[in-house]
Amino acid sequence: MIKKINHVAIIVPDLDSSLTFWRDALGLKVEYVEEVKSQESIVAFLPTGESEIELVKPTTETSGAAKFLAKRGAGMHHIALEVDNLDEMLVDLKAKGIRLINETPIIAAGGYRAAFIHPESASGVLVELYQK
Ligand code: ZN
Repeated sequence: MIKKINHVAIIVPDLDSSLTFWRDALGLKVEYVEEVKSQESIVAFLPTGESEIELVKPTTETSGAAKFLAKRGAGMHHIALEVDNLDEMLVDLKAKGIRLINETPIIAAGGYRAAFIHPESASGVLVELYQK
């Protein structure tokens, strides 16, 4: 079951310059900044009430995130839907023929388990399933 939009992620080439808008101009607080090894990125989470904004900065040239940034530039990267049972959801989606980037969960920011759905199956949007 999907519980809510946990976060919306924006991919950026430089975290500090992006924070001048998201933190300094909008007044959002940075909850934490973390290097996420599985995603070859540094991420910053800024709570916005029930959901959060995630800023994603690739740390290598070869990751999916880096290729996304090189191809499309800064902008919307993914929507993360919080689910109550990630394993069950992945089995269900696979059975429905949905194209998954991660067929088994990865460890995402905050140490939570997550898996990405390919944009090809999701109206052109990269979707992260996220279990707290
Ligand atoms: Zn995310």
